[in-house]
This record gives sequence, structure tokens and C-alpha cells, in this order.
Amino acid sequence: MCEGKALEKMSDAAVEQSAEYEDVSDEDSSQLTNSSDEEEVNWINWFVSLKGNEYFCEIEEDYIQDDFNLTGLSVMVPFYDYALDMMLDIEIPLDKLTEDQLEIVETAAEVLYGLIHARYILTIKGMARMADKYAQVDFGRCPRVHCQGQPVLPIGISDIPRNHSVNTFCPKCRDVFYPKSARQANLDGSYFGTTFAHLFLLVHADAIPSPSQQVYTPRIFGFKIHDSSVYWKAHGRISSPGVDGAARSSPNSKVSRGGAGAGAALPLPPPQSGAAAASAGGSPAHLPAPPK
Ligand SMILES: [Zn+2]
Repeated sequence: MCEGKALEKMSDAAVEQSAEYEDVSDEDSSQLTNSSDEEEVNWINWFVSLKGNEYFCEIEEDYIQDDFNLTGLSVMVPFYDYALDMMLDIEIPLDKLTEDQLEIVETAAEVLYGLIHARYILTIKGMARMADKYAQVDFGRCPRVHCQGQPVLPIGISDIPRNHSVNTFCPKCRDVFYPKSARQANLDGSYFGTTFAHLFLLVHADAIPSPSQQVYTPRIFGFKIHDSSVYWKAHGRISSPGVDGAARSSPNSKVSRGGAGAGAALPLPPPQSGAAAASAGGSPAHLPAPPK
């Protein structure tokens, strides 16, 4: 609950700030349109336009130039200063670097961009840029049939670099998926982080979709598979399809959620596993009393 409140406060603060920045972001977008007409493309424009980098938004140079925003990043990439200069189109002394070193600087610039990106998209302006991309479905759609093409958000399973590649989060089914494109799937998940997708939905609460009411029911020759079948038992399910949530919920739960499925009329047995019993918070009634 405490965390939830903290997040609510954060999102409130974010909304307040967004009002202040509205004018600025309008200016920014007009500048971007102009710059695309110019012949010279800066490093950031070039980088985000590469195939496979569609999930990245353009980070403002002002944000990168503010040292405060880069705290702690200097130890995370080799040739940090050169990498930063390359990103900001500041000429680097090529005669001081071997070809191999230059290659390392190029890679370091890309990694550094990702690390800064993870921070930038949590700011009001960064989140506004990601909101535009979300509106344009730049992050793709949920592959789950019953989510009916719901646009997804990029998400990291870990905030630590080189741990997991990027995934997508569906706000409708609230599950995570691999990106559709193999190139996008190569991106580091930490460049998007574990927080962004959820903070985004708190700030843009109007973008939270209602959950899909449809549940897929497996059938064989048109018949539902019986509850007692190994098909369900091996899967760890103890009730009929269509009552997934109810089957896993506590037997003490006062809310019955079994009404959606056709097999819901069956009474729900108590949980079979020790873990389920423990999570229910009471001693399971179906187990014999411990010996005295
Ligand atoms: Zn979904």
C-alpha cells in the first residue's frame, strides 16, 4: 500500500510538471520537424532511426548535457567521455584512437544512450515522447488473441544491464512478451527498465484498458476437457477451464469469480498443494491433524 501511495504521489507530481512543460514540448516537436528537412542528421537522430531501435525515443541534448542526469554512468562504459562526445556530435580526436578503440567508443556510445534513455523516459518530457510513440503503436501489439491488438509498452525484466533483453508489456492482459522483431529483441531490457511501463499507466490512467472478458476454452472435437483429466491436473489446475482466477484464489475468499466459465457450477475444492494452503493463510481443512 505504501508503495502504491508513493507511486500515486509521483504520478501526481508528474502531472503537475507536465503542465509546465507543455509549451516547451510543442517547440521541441516543431524543431524536430525542421531538423528532419535538413541534410545533416545528428548522432541521436541517426541512432534512433536504425532498424531495430524503434523502441527508443529521442533524448533531448539538454538532458544529456546535464551532468546530474548522468550520475554514476561514467563507470559503466569504457571511453565514457569520448562516447558522450560522439553522442552529442562533438568531434573526438581520431588520431588519438586506434581503429579498435574507435569501435569500442562507438559501442560505448550506444550503450550509454540506452542507460540514459532508461532515466529519461521516467521524466515528464521523456514520458511524453514515449506517449507519442505508444499512440503510434511503435512498440507493437499484444500477440494474445483476446487482447484484440492492444498496443504494448517496452519493459525490462531487470534494471541491471546485460541481464535480460527487452520485452513488451500488455496493459490489457498485464503479461510480458518477446518483441515481434528479432532485432528489437536484441535490445537490452535495462534501457527501458522495470518501472517505465507501470509509471506510464499511472500517469496516463485514461490509457488503462479494461481487461478482456473472454477466456480461451480448450476443446477436443468440440467438447470441453473434463476437470478430472490429466490435461488439467498436469498443468496444476484444480478446476475447470474458464475459472482460472477462482481456482487459484484462497478458499476463504468471499468473492466468487467463477461465474464466467460454463463449468463454474462445480464447487471449488480446497487447494491441494502446501504452497497454496500456506498462501491461503490458514490450516487446510482437508489435511489430517498433526500427531500429538
Ligand atoms: Zn495482452
